[in-house]
Amino acid sequence: MENCVNCGGELTDKRVNGKYKVCYADCNREYTRKKYKEHNLVLDGVTSGTTGTISELAVGIDLLSKGYDVFKSLSPNASFDIAIFRDKKFLRVEIKTGYYTILGRKIFPKGSPKKYDVLAVYFRRTKEIDYFSNGSIDNTI
Ligand SMILES: [Zn+2]
Repeated sequence: MENCVNCGGELTDKRVNGKYKVCYADCNREYTRKKYKEHNLVLDGVTSGTTGTISELAVGIDLLSKGYDVFKSLSPNASFDIAIFRDKKFLRVEIKTGYYTILGRKIFPKGSPKKYDVLAVYFRRTKEIDYFSNGSIDNTI
């Protein structure tokens, strides 16, 4: 007999299967929430605005380290988050916070691709940043 990974109780619900074995809806919900928090370093009491700022600063530091001049709009409602400049060229950069599903797959919002040249996605748990241009990963940024 297998046991629930959340409460340790005996698994009797035959509908439960997959990688994580949990009993009933409550355990499933609770375990999913717990795993999601672990996978994404969810900090209690941190607002989505602060989460966005953390991602912006992380991407800003990365781009400055790579030799770009980094510009931030005076208005919080600009059509993209930052502009970067190098080799006589400006690029519009949109910054998003990425998350991991409990199976470890990366998920993130893509925003509106017409409004940026580069999408930068910051994953807080791994401190990884993925850059995309024209819809695919771009390691030249
Ligand atoms: Zn359980």
